Amino acid sequence: MNDISKPDIETLVKLQEAETQIFRLKTVLEKVEKEKENLSIRLKQFGNALEDHKENFSSAVKACRDIEMEIQIIDERIVKSNEKLRMVKTNKEYQLFLREVDDNKKRKDALETELLEHLDEKEKMEKIVQENENEYKLLKDQIDAEQNDIDKKSIDDRELLDEYLDRQEEIGKSLDPSLMNRFAKISKMNGGLAVVNVENEVCMGCFMNVPPQLYIEVQRGNSLISCPQCSRILYHINT
Ligand SMILES: [Zn+2]
Repeated sequence: MNDISKPDIETLVKLQEAETQIFRLKTVLEKVEKEKENLSIRLKQFGNALEDHKENFSSAVKACRDIEMEIQIIDERIVKSNEKLRMVKTNKEYQLFLREVDDNKKRKDALETELLEHLDEKEKMEKIVQENENEYKLLKDQIDAEQNDIDKKSIDDRELLDEYLDRQEEIGKSLDPSLMNRFAKISKMNGGLAVVNVENEVCMGCFMNVPPQLYIEVQRGNSLISCPQCSRILYHINT
């Protein structure tokens, strides 16, 4: 691990300063995105419920139409049966068509009762859909506004993040790519903190004691020393 020649510790510290800010800003912005996403999910859930209500309304409309059509067909049958009734020759035929008319009237009564129930249902569904559509519009406006607000509030953070990313890239150009890789790897493992000071033989990353021999080497600063506990790159600056 100590195969890299004496590093410019100040450069590494600057790199870490940028990394700390990048890590902080990314965390803040991720939270912001999550917040926006949660708002979108809320709106989508409400939208899905609205679609369900619309579907129920459509079903109710169709049910009413179906029954109305059936009633129409039965009306036609009743008219025909009545016509036949006027033309009958025998009592037997008369009884037959009379029963036909009677049966159809009974069926029509039943359908009309059914239709009333479905019309009630349709009316109820229509009201729910209208109410939900209004609520959806209000919620959408509210959520759009909240998301815009969130975006506005995070503009500065986004700009700052770009600045630090640029700065880090600039610093990175002066460093050995393998060192940059090592830095990135350690940072990823340690929550954005890859380069830490050692104070009084204590690693300021994991707050564990550094062996005295290692502490001396860190103080010498001739090579890159990693903390045996947390693998962070150690430096020592007298404060
Ligand atoms: Zn440590």
